[in-house]
Amino acid sequence: MKQAVMVSPGKIEIRETEAPKGAPGKVVIQVGYIGVCGSDIHVYHGKHPYTKYPVVQGHEVSGEVVRTWEGSAFQNGDKVTIEPQISCGKCGPCGEGLYNICNELKVMGFQSQGAASEYVEIEEKHLVKLPEEMDLSHGAMMEPLAVGVRAVRKFGEIRGKRAAVLGAGPIGNLTMQAAKALGAKAVIISDVNALRLEKARKCGADETVEIGKGETPEETAERLGDCDVIFDCAGVQSSIDTAVCAAGKGKEIIAVAVYEGKPMVDLARVNECELKITGTARYTKEDFETAIALTQQGIIELEELISDIFPLEAYEQAYEKIDGDPMSTMKVLIRIRDLM
Ligand SMILES: [Zn+2]
Ligand SMILES: [Zn+2]
Repeated sequence: MKQAVMVSPGKIEIRETEAPKGAPGKVVIQVGYIGVCGSDIHVYHGKHPYTKYPVVQGHEVSGEVVRTWEGSAFQNGDKVTIEPQISCGKCGPCGEGLYNICNELKVMGFQSQGAASEYVEIEEKHLVKLPEEMDLSHGAMMEPLAVGVRAVRKFGEIRGKRAAVLGAGPIGNLTMQAAKALGAKAVIISDVNALRLEKARKCGADETVEIGKGETPEETAERLGDCDVIFDCAGVQSSIDTAVCAAGKGKEIIAVAVYEGKPMVDLARVNECELKITGTARYTKEDFETAIALTQQGIIELEELISDIFPLEAYEQAYEKIDGDPMSTMKVLIRIRDLM
């Protein structure tokens, strides 16, 4: 089978390797689609602090079961996605059910082998069943949607609340959609990129704020107005500044983005206004299940987010596209095999 191996930063080779055979507890999947996201690009740049080369990436995955083991809960032909976190099951966070922040956490595609190949063998406990009618291109987006679902769940009851989302890339868009789907009264979303805001409107954003050149966080905060919760999905100094400015007294900021460096936070304002800042890291299986259920209800728009689809052979081009043309790129998928 073919496998995409990132041999060193910026270099992906398509290699011929033996297909997995499956084993007790392990299921073989024929991979349908893989999503490429911002954290993959960090690896491509050699800037991911916890990834060594060579590495097989691919953590946003959909596919079809082609081999099971005796006693498996899956059958050949089942559509599945993968919850890609390998946890120890023994540490403090694992004991509290927070295996997404396990002390020994390994994420497939980063510290453990990902799914960028025609077939992949996965421990059954990592599989999440997809509805029969779900297109596999959408199935590969349950992972980023689960990020958004968890972000909203970390806030708590969003029904009737007005939320702001900073950053309208795939994670910002899906967090906005998760907030709406889970009952937010209104969601306002900001970005510097007009195209992303147009996509956000098509996906149900109630209001959008296009941040102008030279606009200060105070000015952006003013335009966002009163919000009950602010989701920072941009992860830059100006977005955290905007969030702290925009948050009303006693309100909450959810830090969703993967931050580069160590941004400063105006703790004087956090203190004086009794703001809460809550982190959210990836997801658990429950978030995947909620993501799938919301999608099944027809209230999540995914098609609008797909900007490019590349074949397995053009794996490197997918990274180059995100890298070279971030303004017009949303979700980039690799089509490994069209099963639909
Ligand atoms: Zn991702
Ligand atoms: Zn653990």
